[in-house]
Amino acid sequence: MPPLPKAILFDLDDTLIRAYAQPEEAWTRLLNGFAAPLNAHEAAAIERIRVAVMDEARAVWADPAAAARWRLNIPGARRLAVRRGLASLGRADEALADRIADAFTEMRRTEYRLYPDAHATVDALRDAGVKLALVTNGGAETQRAKIERFDLGHRFHHIQIEGEFGQGKPELAVYRHALARLDVDAGDAWMVGDNFEWEVVAPQRLGMVGVWYDPFETGVPAHAPARPARIIKRLAELVE
Ligand SMILES: [Mg+2]
Repeated sequence: MPPLPKAILFDLDDTLIRAYAQPEEAWTRLLNGFAAPLNAHEAAAIERIRVAVMDEARAVWADPAAAARWRLNIPGARRLAVRRGLASLGRADEALADRIADAFTEMRRTEYRLYPDAHATVDALRDAGVKLALVTNGGAETQRAKIERFDLGHRFHHIQIEGEFGQGKPELAVYRHALARLDVDAGDAWMVGDNFEWEVVAPQRLGMVGVWYDPFETGVPAHAPARPARIIKRLAELVE
């Protein structure tokens, strides 16, 4: 076992479970299923709609204050993005947009997957005496359902969900609360996750060690305001 800290805070979505990664492929696949009602019978037509929807989704998520509200209602954010995406192509149809958005939400939910080394890694850390917290943004019901579905609840000493706690990453109060619940100082704790701002920049501001999970090897963002203390491509690297 390599040197380990007293405590580790884990992110949930796209860290322990695959949830929202690689949206381009997912949207293309979903939109192909709506080719007839969209009257989009060629790949280029599907691609135009995908780009329009994803551009609008980025706009919805760009404002941090708005994003903090939409995180508690991701299906609603998707409806808005698809409505606006279709409208931007001159094809405003809210009923069709909502059907598409809801189908995407259901497809994503069906396809959530536990990363294959997640349970073994978390259990090995816990057995090694590391205090563990799960710190996740999002709505209480949505996140609790994932925690139950993937048998994660009993594996952590503390579980903190944005929708229950009332604040989400990257608010520093979020990390401070989790550290207090685990009774450790920031300097004795790692934050592990896939979101560069939430799991590297913000926690390192507090003196924690940010371990960036980059399974698709996207690389540190250009002009990043901080460097991760460590980058891992697989969770099991933490215990190897
Ligand atoms: Mg994440």
